[in-house]
Amino acid sequence: MSDSLAKTASTAYDAALEVIASVEPRIAAATRQELADQRGSLKLIASENYASPAVLLTMGTWLSDKYAEGTVGHRFYAGCQNVDTVEALAAEHARELFGAPYAYVQPHSGIDANLVAFWSILANRVETPALARLGAKNVNELTEADWESLRHELGNQRLLGMSLDAGGHLTHGFRPNISGKMFHQQQYGTDPVTGLLDYDAVAAKAREFKPLVLVAGYSAYPRRVDFAKMREIADEVGAVLMVDMAHFAGLVAGKVFTGDEDPVPHAHVVTTTTHKSLRGPRGGMVLAQEEFAADVDRGCPMVLGGPLSHVMAAKAVALAEARTTEFQGYAQRVADNAKSLADGFLSRGAELVTGGTDNHLVLLDVSSFGLTGRQAESALLDAGVVTNRNSVPADPNGAWYTSGVRLGTPALTTRGFGHDEFDRVAELIVEVLSSTQAGTTKAGGPSKASYVTGDGVADRVRAASAELLDRHPLYPGLDLA
Ligand code: PLP
Repeated sequence: MSDSLAKTASTAYDAALEVIASVEPRIAAATRQELADQRGSLKLIASENYASPAVLLTMGTWLSDKYAEGTVGHRFYAGCQNVDTVEALAAEHARELFGAPYAYVQPHSGIDANLVAFWSILANRVETPALARLGAKNVNELTEADWESLRHELGNQRLLGMSLDAGGHLTHGFRPNISGKMFHQQQYGTDPVTGLLDYDAVAAKAREFKPLVLVAGYSAYPRRVDFAKMREIADEVGAVLMVDMAHFAGLVAGKVFTGDEDPVPHAHVVTTTTHKSLRGPRGGMVLAQEEFAADVDRGCPMVLGGPLSHVMAAKAVALAEARTTEFQGYAQRVADNAKSLADGFLSRGAELVTGGTDNHLVLLDVSSFGLTGRQAESALLDAGVVTNRNSVPADPNGAWYTSGVRLGTPALTTRGFGHDEFDRVAELIVEVLSSTQAGTTKAGGPSKASYVTGDGVADRVRAASAELLDRHPLYPGLDLA
């Protein structure tokens, strides 16, 4: 952003916050404080980023006030011409950027995008054939008895996804999530020795289980996936391949993942968030092959209500940013920096799941420090290092305490961190974890939550982080009083 644009953005934010403060000053204060906190901490949460002022400003407008259920040119409300422009442009950018035949930009979040995908697949592969068999054009023409049997068919399909502790997401068939309840689900994991995806094992499970939906994609797997192989597996068992690229969409957009590592040409349906490595507003999207386009297009009213028009507008702006060569450079640096971070840990004796990374994230196994993920996450937070605890494969500490900490490079790469800074970040993290010990419970037993960090370590690391952060300010030029 040029200096003069940064000045304009500062004025815009100051004015907006003043208007907000006139109604509820505590919200204006919390918003200002959030910027100060984000500026002052090392944000290593792999699913977070810093969207540009252009993306953020796009969300604060009256587009939010318009109802626009339906699709472009086919709305259930009058006066949607401007929303049509916004939605059509966001979808066009998405199709062009990802080389997808079809894009649906209405989902409010990643979970919504996955719900749209699941129900589109069920509509395409279960409902439509059933309607044809029963001689009906739509469900309204079914008798109660027909509808009862269709409901039974829709509710008895199978889904195979990556298990949560191997790095999959809740929505990939985890039992407490609706995906694990509405589908008969089974999960594939990773190789117990290498921690890597074992495609032969996935294929064997798919042959045995014969899922309708094979889900690929992850939240905490630090490696690339061969989507051509996943498609081969899906085709062999007659499954639909759905890829959830929420985490690595930025690396696909930035052409770091190409060929077999690019899910778009291989999957029937691809879902994503727009706010992680893609660096857009909070939201979701579905990309699909032609065969599924009409079903995905019915996301509203199938599982969605009115679209968030202001967020669709911000998606269009973010996708316009992601088309640039500058964004491609950013995406490559995200991956390079993850390697620097991983090497920084390995050279200091820390243990990483899979022994490294080739995407945007690193999964640090903190059991070698004698800590749970929860203790490590808290000790790091005291030192101004923001991470999140995460299960490791076959985690003995379960999904709440965990044995891992997940770290990602998208956010700090946006600030301009490079190899040296990420090596220093690894050094600081190892310093905190090596000087932290597990605490005890009130009864004197070993605790999975409490911890004690050596005197002065948190302050020292905070000061060292501040030096790095000062070198790479967040939103440089954005001067908020
Ligand atoms: N899919 C994956 C792989 C994710 O990692 C996440 C969020 O972390 C989601 C879906 C859900 O996204 P949201 O929080 O926007 O619903």
